[in-house]
Amino acid sequence: MQFSLLLPQKVVFGWDKRSEFGAIAAELGTAAVVVHGSRTLRTSSLWSELMAALESHGVQVVCELGIHREPTIEDVDAATAMVRSSSPTSDMVIGIGGGAAIDLAKAVSAMATNQLGESVRDYLEGVGEGLSIENDPLPMLAIPTTAGTGSETTKNAVISVDDPPCKKSLRSENMIPKIVLIDPELSVTVPQSVTAASGMDAITQLIESYISSRATPLTQSLCIEGLKHALPNMKRAYVDGTDQAARTAMAYAAFLSGVALANSGLGMAHGIAAALGAYCDVPHGLACATLLPIALRTNQTASRKQQVILGKLFAKNPHLSKEDAIAASISHVEALCDDLSIPKRLRDLGVRKEQLNDIVVGSRGNSMNGNPRVLTDEELYSILEEHW
Ligand SMILES: [Zn+2]
Repeated sequence: MQFSLLLPQKVVFGWDKRSEFGAIAAELGTAAVVVHGSRTLRTSSLWSELMAALESHGVQVVCELGIHREPTIEDVDAATAMVRSSSPTSDMVIGIGGGAAIDLAKAVSAMATNQLGESVRDYLEGVGEGLSIENDPLPMLAIPTTAGTGSETTKNAVISVDDPPCKKSLRSENMIPKIVLIDPELSVTVPQSVTAASGMDAITQLIESYISSRATPLTQSLCIEGLKHALPNMKRAYVDGTDQAARTAMAYAAFLSGVALANSGLGMAHGIAAALGAYCDVPHGLACATLLPIALRTNQTASRKQQVILGKLFAKNPHLSKEDAIAASISHVEALCDDLSIPKRLRDLGVRKEQLNDIVVGSRGNSMNGNPRVLTDEELYSILEEHW
């Protein structure tokens, strides 16, 4: 057996654990850049509570940045300029929010200390000058609030690029946040549509990581643990956002999905979701949810052994025949998508048929490399057309 495992240095998890926020932040520095997502959080009493905790632990906020969509090259460059000119000089970054806020925080923490290129573009995979993150990023504390992307545990930040339209990663093993603080209570006010999309993103990450051609027994055990918590609780968290047990289970599953994917890669749902985001502005979690049943059908021969195990787990029936278990692995996901009112067809996500060729090209990223079944462009096009 061979594997390598990347993890944050410290993870603090639990309901109301934000009460430790000030003390945890003070472990990393005294002059913080704070990156947040939604305006709702920024204007809430919770925000005042968090900022007061920083102050009482001797941590000064020297720069505050907001982001409400996946960060673009321009967003990162503007944020980096602010951070580099902050006074006193910042010595740590705190990211609070969904995947976009945490990705911007990760990008800024890396760009603050790596100044060879003029723009983050020079460091992006596939489009830039091929510069790499040589210096340690500023130490970072990540506080996810949406129970979805798992970005708090991964080594890359996803950046939107306009020309050509695509999503590219800024990537370095040193970009994994040093400390992760997960308080499921922070997700209680997340709107129902975001609960569905981010929860299905986590479930897609757990399933794609489990069947990925780069999976290891260790990452697969994390995926099974995550799915055991996510599947019975996804709909409960969607129906009643204040359900403490359901919110805790989804936050735990989302965290595990991030650790798993960072160490195993993903598959075609994530590959295509990146293209749907870049060309058609489809939110990441929603794209993943629509694509997950399609990915399971496409891979059912290539990942037969894994889908038999998943089907028995989903149906809670270890005695299912192999064929019935594979069918159950797909039908349970389809039923969950129906419960959450997830669109079934690409056209319902706003995709135009003439965009399918571009989507095939745009799907060929890092995620697609982990897909169990290797797909030609023609095969991928016909799958997309069938589900358009
Ligand atoms: Zn995802």
